[in-house]
Amino acid sequence: MFKNIYLKLTLFYVLIIMIISFIFSISLYQLSVREISRGLGPEAKIFRFLEKQNLSSDLEIFRLTQIKESKDHIKLNLIYFNLLILVLSSFACYFLAKSTLQPIRDAMLAQIRFTADASHELRTPLAAMKTEIEVLLRDKNINLNKLKKLLKSNLEEIDKLEKLSASLLKLARLDKKPQNNFEKISISEPIITAYEKVATLAKNKSISFKNKLKEFEVLADKQSLTDLFVIILDNSIKYTHKKSNIYIETSKIKQRVVVKIKDSGIGINETDLPHIFERFYRADNSRSKGNTPGFGLGLSIAKEIVDLHKGTIEVKSEINKGTEFIISLPTPTK
Ligand code: ADP
Repeated sequence: MFKNIYLKLTLFYVLIIMIISFIFSISLYQLSVREISRGLGPEAKIFRFLEKQNLSSDLEIFRLTQIKESKDHIKLNLIYFNLLILVLSSFACYFLAKSTLQPIRDAMLAQIRFTADASHELRTPLAAMKTEIEVLLRDKNINLNKLKKLLKSNLEEIDKLEKLSASLLKLARLDKKPQNNFEKISISEPIITAYEKVATLAKNKSISFKNKLKEFEVLADKQSLTDLFVIILDNSIKYTHKKSNIYIETSKIKQRVVVKIKDSGIGINETDLPHIFERFYRADNSRSKGNTPGFGLGLSIAKEIVDLHKGTIEVKSEINKGTEFIISLPTPTK
């Protein structure tokens, strides 16, 4: 499909160049002919000599032949020139069309992949609910207990769907890049709000937080930064063993506020590390894939939030030792 578009765009570019070249050639031709017809140049001496010898009619014929020959010469040269432009511009325009369309092509492919992944994730809980309902409807010994079990299981699937649609909505909103909610806040504010949101999850796994928080100012959308820290802290709790510690530390390095969140959990494979910020990517780690809920959208949302704040997010990880996320945000310029 894109090959056709490349060719069409190439043709369009070549057409524009050839129209310009054609107009330029006609103008050049007319200018040259006018100059030649004025009889200027070295030939003027010959014309004057022939005139003195009373050979004016021969002079006229000579002059006209000269002009005709020159015209043909210019015409031929201009045709060669245009052919050369046609060949060169065809190659150049093809590469230009390809490089112009490359980012659009990449964005389109990413969008197609995203839609396919989202549809797959939406279909999975729906298919599970449908199967459970069909099986129960075929059951002749249907009773209240079985019905309650079904409803409980369906509710869990609906919960998943709700979380997925909330994540998709967040991504769609972040794509629009709203920057009007930015204000000067202390970095500890969104961290503490996020910490409060995940505290129960941590308590259920007897995980303790060791915080070294200092008040550093950042220019940020408070809600987005809270979402960012909820994602990172939620992952740290999800992928960390019971009764362990999570460390949160803030510091200021040059003009940047740095937040480090470190766990002692299952870690991430080296091969997965470059991909964990991609949409719907879940590390190929059976322990995380099989039992831990998630859609692989959290870190891509986190990355978009960090990008929105012109910050950076890095990850260091070692299997069975733990993972550390390092977020760096610029401080406000006074
Ligand atoms: P998910 O919903 O699967 O948690 P994320 O986008 O938040 O999606 O994370 C992508 C993947 O990165 C996860 O599936 C997990 O394999 C890995 N990951 C993220 N955070 C951690 C962590 N703290 N420890 C180990 N693995 C992690």
